[in-house]
Amino acid sequence: MQDKLVVQFKHLPVYYHKTDYIVYCKHCNSYTINNQAPCYKCRASDQLITLDTVTQKIVKCDFYIRNCFILMVYTLLFLLSMNFTQLVTVTVYTLLCLLLNLLFYITFKHALCLSELDKYIHLNHKKIKQDLTELLNKIQEKTEEKKYLEAYEDLRYLGMLIDTEEIRFKKINCLRHFRLRADLPLELKELLLVRGNKYLIEYIYEVSKIKKELIDEDAIQYILGYKEQILGLPEGEKIIAKVVEAALKSKYLTRRYAHVIYDYLDYFSKERLIRLWKIKECITDRMLVQQITDKIKLKYGKDEDISTSL
Ligand SMILES: [Zn+2]
Repeated sequence: MQDKLVVQFKHLPVYYHKTDYIVYCKHCNSYTINNQAPCYKCRASDQLITLDTVTQKIVKCDFYIRNCFILMVYTLLFLLSMNFTQLVTVTVYTLLCLLLNLLFYITFKHALCLSELDKYIHLNHKKIKQDLTELLNKIQEKTEEKKYLEAYEDLRYLGMLIDTEEIRFKKINCLRHFRLRADLPLELKELLLVRGNKYLIEYIYEVSKIKKELIDEDAIQYILGYKEQILGLPEGEKIIAKVVEAALKSKYLTRRYAHVIYDYLDYFSKERLIRLWKIKECITDRMLVQQITDKIKLKYGKDEDISTSL
């Protein structure tokens, strides 16, 4: 079997706006994700700017245009002025207009940028979609060249913009080549598929062993949804038990999956059984609580570590 790769992922930055994951290349007029440098189309390395920068430039440009318009009107009125009083009046009003324009720009700059960003995305969404689709093809080429880490990191950025089954599937296809560790910034809910997938099941199993806090209700539901198929795998029982064991992290999940927890109790570690014992009151089915208690006592009643906790 092929050895898995030892890798280190970069942390995916968290942005307030999803559009912050896109950058625009001034050189070839195309869009890409913001971890791409140089531009994947023209290879220009210093021509990428964020859409935030693009819209800030548009808003600033509008500010200058308004100033130019005010000055043009001023020039016209200046030429038409009949006397000194009119000249002074026109100058004062012009200065006032320039000042108001500046105050308007400073006060509403942020709101104007957001509004401009919406308009910009609306006007350019076809081109953005087309460029990102081309980028997805480039990422596929990386996968075919076995550059799995590069491909995965690109897919994580792209997945923040286009969340489709295809991208999730491609991410899983990269992840299956990595040796997973607890210190890696792993993801899970961004990978769940609608369909059953052997590699995703294996990934969830690995995550349940090294980073069980990532196992949530959706992940447990996914595993239970494909229970019959998983039981057909060599480690099927262990996979289900390990994922269900992660439910003990919360009282809600323990109560929700109490019956499945009972079914797989034999596979639980001592530490998890002690945890279950401590939170067993959250299970509303009293008969089930008694059955769990009996099963733990029967199996581990003589075990020092557990009997002192019971
Ligand atoms: Zn370019």
